[in-house]
Amino acid sequence: METKTTVKSASVVKPLERAESHEDNAWHQAMLQLDRAALKMKLEPFVLERLRHCKRILTVSVPVKMDDGQVKVFEGYRIQHNMDRGPAKGGIRYHPLVCLDEVKALSFWMTMKCAVVNLPYGGAKGGIICDPKKMSKGEIERMTRRYTAEISLIIGPEKDIPAPDVNTNEQIMAWMMDTYSMTVGYSCPGVVTGKPIEVGGSLGRREATGRGVFYVTRELAAREGFDLRKAPVVIQGFGNVGSNAAKIFSDHGCKVIGISDVGGGLYDPKGLDISDIFHYREKNETIAGYAKAEHVDVDAFLELPCDILIPAAMENQLTKANAPKIKAKYVIEGANGPTSGEADRIFNERGIIVVPDILANAGGVTVSYFEWVQDMQSYFWSEKEINARLQEIIIGAFTEVFDLAKKEKVDMRLAAFMVGIRRLGKAASIRGMYP
Ligand code: GLU
Repeated sequence: METKTTVKSASVVKPLERAESHEDNAWHQAMLQLDRAALKMKLEPFVLERLRHCKRILTVSVPVKMDDGQVKVFEGYRIQHNMDRGPAKGGIRYHPLVCLDEVKALSFWMTMKCAVVNLPYGGAKGGIICDPKKMSKGEIERMTRRYTAEISLIIGPEKDIPAPDVNTNEQIMAWMMDTYSMTVGYSCPGVVTGKPIEVGGSLGRREATGRGVFYVTRELAAREGFDLRKAPVVIQGFGNVGSNAAKIFSDHGCKVIGISDVGGGLYDPKGLDISDIFHYREKNETIAGYAKAEHVDVDAFLELPCDILIPAAMENQLTKANAPKIKAKYVIEGANGPTSGEADRIFNERGIIVVPDILANAGGVTVSYFEWVQDMQSYFWSEKEINARLQEIIIGAFTEVFDLAKKEKVDMRLAAFMVGIRRLGKAASIRGMYP
């Protein structure tokens, strides 16, 4: 039986009542997206009010003995936004610009993402304010281990399962798994995902986000009736998501004409040789300086002529300032939160279709879910099986969102929120409220 609960204090804030100018505040942007969906769906205040708040926020101080013998104290967070549909899930970010509002937003987007692709998870996110590019491997290991010990109060394979995000990787996940295992006294591979294969990682996890980005784009091309191999692609970011997306698009015969990293962009209208750039990056750590393409600076990069633009770096890249100048017809969000509310509105007016982050980049957490299931069963699947299941889930979710967007005459972000919120609302109502 469904529990009907009314919350007296809840008020639906109309999107326009909020100042539109806070483009650089991810939490503000996330709440704008939520309010827009709530208004459209006439969402019960009980559900809306729950989604407006993070369930649990933990701030930790992380003392680390640096190589020079001094102790430096870093600030870290782990935030569990919602657990109504299962344990919390989401990555850990190491970046100088990490802040509480950013981690809150990222945890909220994880809740929405898991609901859109129907994984039995809630949403979480963590981060440490640090610049790992200026730290040694030993310093990063000591910071990771102390952070893990500090958040081990709330993480666990049945509670909250971290994973990689910006500037974290398989090695860092292995240290987290080892540290957590030491605190509980037995090997516990299911506490984090995105681990190396040797310690319970899953085949296909490394490429999963990029692969999911490709699956949604291929499906979009089929539904919109254009030939993907003739549609020039520009990808911002050459981290885990961007680099794997570039490789998968180019392996499928698509023309990737632009890629970038923090050092700047590379452009060749005839198509870039992605595997050659991979070799170059291996030796040089960055793609800046690659000689066989034109160099484009970071700001001009997003405005390159192309059909498909894949922001796969950080939040707030497509804003009211550059949205009018974007030449792409389709924006596929490999990153979390790359498009501001203002940019969304401009893209809608200009007829540019945005496939939202909570759908487009859900391939990563989907294979994280497979990894966790495999760890819990100690039974591992083939890469073929993993990719086939990933494809089924991503295409299923894409179809649901795309069809709802057409039916309701709304953009895909709003449709994806409607799909996710419906699932979250049902779970919240059925569970009822404690006490
Ligand atoms: N950090 C990734 C994301 O934003 C992956 C999260 C996970 O696998 O739990 O979706």
